[in-house]
Amino acid sequence: MTAQEILNKAKSEGYALGAFNAGDLEIVKGVVQAGVELKSPLIVEASPGEIKFFGHKNFDCVIENFKKEMGFPILTNLDHSLGLEEAQEGIESGFDLIHFDGSSLPYEENVKITKVIVEQAHEKGILVEGEVDKILGESIPHREEAESIQASGSYTDPEKAADFVNQTGVDILAVFIGNLHGTYPQPPKLDLERLKLIAEKLPCFLSLHGGSGLLEEDIKQAIAIGKVVKINVNTELRVAYRETLENVLKGSEEVAIYRIMPPVIAAVQKVVEGKIQLFGSAGKAVIPSEESTTTQL
Ligand SMILES: [Zn+2]
Repeated sequence: MTAQEILNKAKSEGYALGAFNAGDLEIVKGVVQAGVELKSPLIVEASPGEIKFFGHKNFDCVIENFKKEMGFPILTNLDHSLGLEEAQEGIESGFDLIHFDGSSLPYEENVKITKVIVEQAHEKGILVEGEVDKILGESIPHREEAESIQASGSYTDPEKAADFVNQTGVDILAVFIGNLHGTYPQPPKLDLERLKLIAEKLPCFLSLHGGSGLLEEDIKQAIAIGKVVKINVNTELRVAYRETLENVLKGSEEVAIYRIMPPVIAAVQKVVEGKIQLFGSAGKAVIPSEESTTTQL
């Protein structure tokens, strides 16, 4: 199935795919194992910082290996690419989805660059996600209250978003409806009425960034509105990784990485499994049956 078909299926059946940030092989393992366990389609993504650490080719090859090994639908996404060149590198290296985040640029410039990226990506069958109104916060645990950060942001205006989508032809729009990157003392409240208006106006898919630490009920309602097919999750994976690694190493003299890392991978897997259940994508992967695999062999 193509990326478009995988997202269409999610939209028509009323669930969303988790887009999980993977900065290293252990996180990829945790994410993929969760997908396999729950038969869920997956998006594995990397931000520019993560891809720089992982290596473009290494990331591609690792995901490709898992896809072959599992016979499993895994889409890759370059998360928050910030410039034309960075996005083009992603197009060249074969991501299924490119998120171009031009939200820091003047509107017209964002439109202009996004349009070029969409044209180039579509030639290769790659889907593009655009962003107009900046999704604030970093993918870390924050001490300050979500409200103060939300108040400094500009919530997505349905009219302006429709203009952006019409001018650029993006396949997905990353909306800001109170969702923030990172986790907060209290979960950020989402403006679901606004999301409804955006969904009614826009012909494309929608994505929800900041999928860590939101109220479960808000996420369910956001998906139920019908256009949100991609929910980004990063902070909770990072926190599970670090806390588990600290616990494993505490008082231990172990030096073999292959004995140190399995609990870390399992902790990441657990978080991902929870998100898959919440997003409703469990059991939705279209996997060739064992019978047809055997026939092919
Ligand atoms: Zn994001």
